[in-house]
Amino acid sequence: MRLDQLYKSGKPDQTGKPDISFELFPPKTPEAVEKLFETVGRLKRFQPAFFSMTYGAGGTTRDLTLDLCDRLKNKSGVETTCHLNIIGQSKQDLLENLKRLKAMGVYNLLALRGDPPKDQPDFKPASRLEPASRFKPHPDGFHSSVELIEEARKDPWFSIAVTGFPEVHFEAKDRASDIAYLKRKVSAGGCVIITQLFFDNAYFFEFMGHVKKAGITAPVVPGILPILSVSQVRRFADLCKATIPPAVAKELVKYENDDEGAAKYGIELSTRMCGELLRSGVPGLHFYCLNRSVSAEKVLKNLRPA
Ligand SMILES: Cc1cc2nc3c(=O)[nH]c(=O)nc-3n(C[C@H](O)[C@H](O)[C@H](O)COP(=O)(O)OP(=O)(O)OC[C@H]3O[C@@H](n4cnc5c(N)ncnc54)[C@H](O)[C@@H]3O)c2cc1C
Repeated sequence: MRLDQLYKSGKPDQTGKPDISFELFPPKTPEAVEKLFETVGRLKRFQPAFFSMTYGAGGTTRDLTLDLCDRLKNKSGVETTCHLNIIGQSKQDLLENLKRLKAMGVYNLLALRGDPPKDQPDFKPASRLEPASRFKPHPDGFHSSVELIEEARKDPWFSIAVTGFPEVHFEAKDRASDIAYLKRKVSAGGCVIITQLFFDNAYFFEFMGHVKKAGITAPVVPGILPILSVSQVRRFADLCKATIPPAVAKELVKYENDDEGAAKYGIELSTRMCGELLRSGVPGLHFYCLNRSVSAEKVLKNLRPA
């Protein structure tokens, strides 16, 4: 289903069922691609609203992103959302990709600016103390996610999701400017907001207060990362500038060398967080499942006991 239809009411669907989505990324080897589709087969049983496929900022896997979207949509027969960012590409290249997506029947997009790849010569790690954007537009490219949304929106075929940042994006001057930019993305044509991951629902609820106050009416779907290991969660938190709250950090130290224990704790934490989010009325849950199904499956089973 198109994203604009799916989240039309901004609430769980008429059956009270939240719309679940799973985010995947293009694997590095053909063997891993086959494994990915085994994961898709298992996750399909939860009747997800869609699978989404990330789009690399480095350029090397972008064709693969589109090929995998084609396979998801036309071979696996699942609803598919293709991420697109504007890093290092001309407008022409992106327009070609939009044409390819349309030809394969994919209408759902997640429109991003993206972060410059770390191997770019002038890459500087981001920090709140140095908020100036590290993003340099391609000479013939779009200058912002808003420009990409506006372009894609010209063709009513496309239905467009955008990102939101419960803890304020690290390049934003402050909360007010971050929310103002989110409003611009929605006004440009974003019909649903999918959030960055977070490990304390308080961040999400505070964000929702600001979203409502700003008069943004697009539905907001929280992004959930079930913790798989201590090293993984620290890496992701650093990458996404997500806070690991003291209570979570205290638990994690117990599982420094115990991935199984960390994953079990991750399932408990995600189950608790998702339960509370669903009771608050979120229209869906977007799982950053990292091409693995076990933790997301367990969380969903915990949420829907047989
Ligand atoms: C659900 C989700 C999926 C993602 N998938 C991918 C992916 O597939 N590929 C990938 O490379 N990255 C992906 N990312 C990471 C994402 O690109 C980074 O988090 C990035 O730092 C910001 O997101 P964005 O690209 O949507 O940027 P934007 O939302 O366009 O910009 C980030 C922030 O910078 C500020 N800003 C930017 N431009 C302006 C402007 N012109 N004026 C004022 N303020 C501005 C705003 O505060 C804004 O919130 C994903 C993130 C999320 C949350």
